[in-house]
Amino acid sequence: MKNLIFFLLIFLPLTLCAQGELKRHTKVLKLMGSRFEITAVHEDDTLAWEAIRACIAEIERIERLISEWDTLSQTHQINIQAGVRPVLVDEELFALIRRSKKVSELTNGAFDISFAAIDKIWRFDGSMKEMPPAEKIKNSVRLINYQDILLDENQKSVFLKNKGMKIGFGAIGKGYAANRGKKVMQALGIRSGIVNAGGDLIAWGNNATGEPWKIGITDPNDKNKMISWLNVADMAVVTSGDYEKFVVFDGIRYAHIIDPHTGYPARGLKSVTILCPDAELADALATGVFVLGETPGLALINQLKGIQCLIITDRNEIKTSQGLELNLISDSTQKD
Ligand code: ADP
Ligand code: MG
Repeated sequence: MKNLIFFLLIFLPLTLCAQGELKRHTKVLKLMGSRFEITAVHEDDTLAWEAIRACIAEIERIERLISEWDTLSQTHQINIQAGVRPVLVDEELFALIRRSKKVSELTNGAFDISFAAIDKIWRFDGSMKEMPPAEKIKNSVRLINYQDILLDENQKSVFLKNKGMKIGFGAIGKGYAANRGKKVMQALGIRSGIVNAGGDLIAWGNNATGEPWKIGITDPNDKNKMISWLNVADMAVVTSGDYEKFVVFDGIRYAHIIDPHTGYPARGLKSVTILCPDAELADALATGVFVLGETPGLALINQLKGIQCLIITDRNEIKTSQGLELNLISDSTQKD
């Protein structure tokens, strides 16, 4: 008993003191062409900022590996050698391409990194003034097929079978980067945090006040509003929408997610949000479900354990996978 009192009097206050007060540290910056927000919750400021710096360095490293535009990247090499020769790559890139192909199989080709063969035709930077010619689309769509991305497991080489083929990680790279950023911060002792990669995020632990993180789901009709919030712990929340990058021709909105089977932007949905513990998978599936559309998309997610989905259709209907609980925000409770 005496010992216990001794412990309570001396050691408990000491331990509590040493733990200090949890604080939130956040850095906002542009990475991978998007706005990243990196948050570390920790009592030690120096450690928190060191972890955020390490996270940024990791994301920059990944960008150098997967960028299509960086002429020094292995991805660029794979693309310029399409139809010519296989390219030896790092295990990391090889594994990312292998996982990308797995998601293509899962989504029946709706998610396909070889969509990039068509990315010169559909441009969403304001430079496209009219609908691309159907003939051009037809010619490029023939080059899109994840089965023509040939992986040699022994050599660790990647070969795009046909000239003109191209791969791009626009729909999976940010999720992968978020996963890696989290791992790096956790390894340095950050028990709670968020890596938000341009709206695609992964959260772990609790916030600085010990509560679950509250993540808002953007209203696709007004980017500054939320339609719902979710309490999450150890979860990725990733959205693919038609409201960030798009063009309008004849009153029809064409957004940046391409249906690999037709070569045209996918239609029917305004946004798809995926929730699962893995940001990379969530990112790829959000794009895949956006292409698949409401019914096949929900059917797929309902088959997958531990993965949830929220869809907003063109008609502003909100659809969820089985078991997803939502706190919908009415206009009157909307925060500005
Ligand atoms: P965001 O980048 O807004 O988070 P996504 O994750 O859905 O949205 O990624 C969209 C990007 O993915 C496009 O800009 C393009 O680079 C690429 N992409 C478009 N269609 C496909 C597709 N069917 N499969 C794989 N990648 C795609
Ligand atoms: Mg995606």
